[in-house]
Amino acid sequence: MTRAIVIGAGFGGMAAALRLRAAGFDVQVFDNQAQVGGRAGVYRKQGYTFDAGPTVITAPFLFDELWSLFGESRSEAVAFKPLTPWYRIRFADGRCFNYGGTDAELVERVRAFSPADTAGYQRLLRKVESIYKVGFEQLGAAPFHSASKMLAVLPQMLALRSDRSVYSFVSRYIQDEALRRVFSFQPLLVGGNPFHTTSIYALIQHLERKDGVSFAMGGTAALAAAMARLMEDQGVRLHLNCGVRQITVEDGRATGVLLDNEQQVSADCVIANADAPAVYRRLVPPRWRRKWTDARIRRQKFSMGLFVLYLGVRKQFPDLAHHTVLLGRRYKELLEEIFHHQLLSDDISLYLHAPTRTDSSLAPPGCESLYALVPVPTLECRQPSKAIDWTVAGPTLAARTLALLEDTVCPNLRDHIDVQFYVTPEHFRDQLRTEHGTGFSIQPTLLQSAWFRYHNRSEDLRGLYLVGAGTHPGAGLPGVLCSAKVLEHYFDEMRATA
Ligand SMILES: Cc1cc2nc3c(=O)[nH]c(=O)nc-3n(C[C@H](O)[C@H](O)[C@H](O)COP(=O)(O)OP(=O)(O)OC[C@H]3O[C@@H](n4cnc5c(N)ncnc54)[C@H](O)[C@@H]3O)c2cc1C
Repeated sequence: MTRAIVIGAGFGGMAAALRLRAAGFDVQVFDNQAQVGGRAGVYRKQGYTFDAGPTVITAPFLFDELWSLFGESRSEAVAFKPLTPWYRIRFADGRCFNYGGTDAELVERVRAFSPADTAGYQRLLRKVESIYKVGFEQLGAAPFHSASKMLAVLPQMLALRSDRSVYSFVSRYIQDEALRRVFSFQPLLVGGNPFHTTSIYALIQHLERKDGVSFAMGGTAALAAAMARLMEDQGVRLHLNCGVRQITVEDGRATGVLLDNEQQVSADCVIANADAPAVYRRLVPPRWRRKWTDARIRRQKFSMGLFVLYLGVRKQFPDLAHHTVLLGRRYKELLEEIFHHQLLSDDISLYLHAPTRTDSSLAPPGCESLYALVPVPTLECRQPSKAIDWTVAGPTLAARTLALLEDTVCPNLRDHIDVQFYVTPEHFRDQLRTEHGTGFSIQPTLLQSAWFRYHNRSEDLRGLYLVGAGTHPGAGLPGVLCSAKVLEHYFDEMRATA
């Protein structure tokens, strides 16, 4: 049996392990953490359950496929509950837009908010569907290891004007500035600045429309745990608290891994789900890095960092939506400060998760388990004088976040807090081992997408394959699940080397 090692039990790694196992490989998964799910970990404190990371489930069929590989049903393992609205977007002037519903409801909401944009929005809906057909259906799970593949799809990408940013694309159809923000913020969910992310990512809007936005009952961590159970039931060997220090190499071919505990494990192929830039910088021995050198990785544009404040609250806020986006006054300027100037601004925008709206089991009766996610600069040190000292910035940002929540959607919040803690980009660097502590690996710009992104088959080492946020097609749960599908194109060559 062909032996495969997967480094990392994030959603991309677990999906890869399941697909390999279904194809008859002998699979072992190693992760440095004590739990599966990677960025989708879970914290349990004083009766409150906090999903650490992803909360928005789109493209449920990608999860269903993994259970179907073994003749099983995802819905029996974990239930997905559709949400309406998908998100509530609250603007700095207090107005709200409830985003989600059927096409007719969406059009009506746009008409009520900005009548002049109704016809433009209907055209936008048709356009994002055609982008989805190319960007997701044709290219999402296609292998992009050769320039010829890129050249073949270039005409379609140019016809769809993938050189435009998501914001500029949306602005062609929508005039109202608030609505432009509603229909362009989605790249932030995959680590991109809407002003620099290729408009291919407008396909996220169609992904949301096609199958809605759902919540995994029990939390996303329950979904990760269910995938881990499926893996183990099917004979995948899962090793937690077991980091990989290096990929071992002979004659330019990956032969296995050296673990943090000095143990060596051999395999016929290695699949890395760890953060792609970190795989090359930390796990591939320097002498084999011909393409992915430090200099090349330094030139890449990294996604933003994240500050996440978790709150267990002895009170409920029944008017909250499950997902709320609180937008500050500034949009483009704020994003430029975070992505380009490495500035922690006074003016914050955030995403608020209130899962007890949908699943009361996640907090004690009458309580809320909330998290507020604030995009912040990464730890990438382009100018040492601008480095953020998180021991100082953390408490300040937590206080500002609480004040903003209290002034907007959670009145008197601070009087009722039971549990409060936060993570900064240092957590992502130290626990999840991401380069510069990014939340989403590299940005989804045009020149870092498809063939320009980390290839799913390594150019530097034979027998090394990559899945996960930094690889094609990109970050977010649908993206990393698709990266594991891409891997299937290489199963035959993996077997041939065994
Ligand atoms: C706060 C937050 C909210 C998000 N919200 C959403 C959302 O609502 N919807 C959505 O679709 N996406 C969301 N995302 C994005 C999504 O969570 C990620 O893109 C996706 O989960 C990344 O999966 P991955 O396969 O790349 O693996 P990761 O989750 O990055 O996991 C990789 C694993 O590899 C391990 N590892 C690293 N190095 C080593 C090593 N040397 N040895 C062993 N193990 C190693 C890590 O510890 C980790 O467990 C969110 C992300 C964050 C951070």
